[in-house]
Amino acid sequence: MSAPVIFSGIQPTGRKHLGNYIGAIRQYVEAQERGAPAIFCIVDLHAISVAYDPAELRGRLYDTTAILLAAGLDPERCVLFRQSDVREHGELTWLLSAVTAHGDLNRMHQFKDKSARQRELVSAALFFYPVLMAADVLAYRAEEVPVGDDQRQHVELMREIARRFNERFGEALVVPELRIPEVGARIMDLQEPERKMSTTGSSEAGTVYVLDEPAAIRKKFGSAVTDSGREVVRGQEKPGVTNLIDVLAVARGVGPEEIEREFEGAGYGDFKKAVAEGVVELLAPVRERYAELRPDEAALERALAAGAEKARAIAAPTLAEVRERMGIGPAA
Ligand code: ATP
Ligand code: MG
Repeated sequence: MSAPVIFSGIQPTGRKHLGNYIGAIRQYVEAQERGAPAIFCIVDLHAISVAYDPAELRGRLYDTTAILLAAGLDPERCVLFRQSDVREHGELTWLLSAVTAHGDLNRMHQFKDKSARQRELVSAALFFYPVLMAADVLAYRAEEVPVGDDQRQHVELMREIARRFNERFGEALVVPELRIPEVGARIMDLQEPERKMSTTGSSEAGTVYVLDEPAAIRKKFGSAVTDSGREVVRGQEKPGVTNLIDVLAVARGVGPEEIEREFEGAGYGDFKKAVAEGVVELLAPVRERYAELRPDEAALERALAAGAEKARAIAAPTLAEVRERMGIGPAA
């Protein structure tokens, strides 16, 4: 089998958290070795779907770019770019909206969750978010989409959109496969372990950021919510402990059973300390490298611009074919 085209997007929220790192960024670095190409997009057009500050958006975008580079993405070996630099995303969104069912968009959990949290405006952009996301992936004819578990429904929808397009207009799009990690696909908030750790709408004390200092990481794990039991084992009625086991398993690169075995008979206190140390070690190199990369915005901008050029070269032919098949514009 030939190497797959891999695509994933990440929001320029700047403060990426441990869930993003474990569920997504870690997969990107692995995908970079397998993808032909592996394409990563910092989705500033998605970010404007909720309240935001225009004066801050560019800075946050550089933060996110520097985090990705610090985590191990290499612009020479992957395609790393800013969504708004490639105009094809916007155009394809509109074209694909013609084969997107309104009823499907109405069912999206993310829209329901995020719209309930908006204080002033529930934008149409928030409703349309999954169509833009479909365009992001389908423009590159990506075969694999590495994401966290929360994006399952959006990937299912883009598959449906691709299938409906191909049926109606002829096979021009690739139906992509979801790829979520076996362990760590859904890292939970340390304070409310029934909710996913999240940039929007999760607690500050329950969210570990990639750039947190070791002291902050230790404090957050130290006060992580567990349960009234005393066994370090996974289970449905033990969401807090299960989450911590998964986190340590990923940090150490072992299976969760191994963590359960190691901490048999240990107390929650010692276990939480070990999880904190594992995460400190996991994130320290990223934080250190970030401090070196982030100040040079001109270099970050150059990397993004070069990435956009590579991205455009892949997306433009897809758009030309989609337009042609849909009867848009002059005949080719
Ligand atoms: P928001 O809550 O604003 O949507 P986010 O925390 O989900 O922000 P994104 O940039 O939207 O951050 O997500 C980037 C990637 O991280 C996606 O692939 C998403 O599935 C993954 N991800 C997000 N939260 C988690 C989590 N708690 N566990 C594992 N993966 C996650
Ligand atoms: Mg998200």
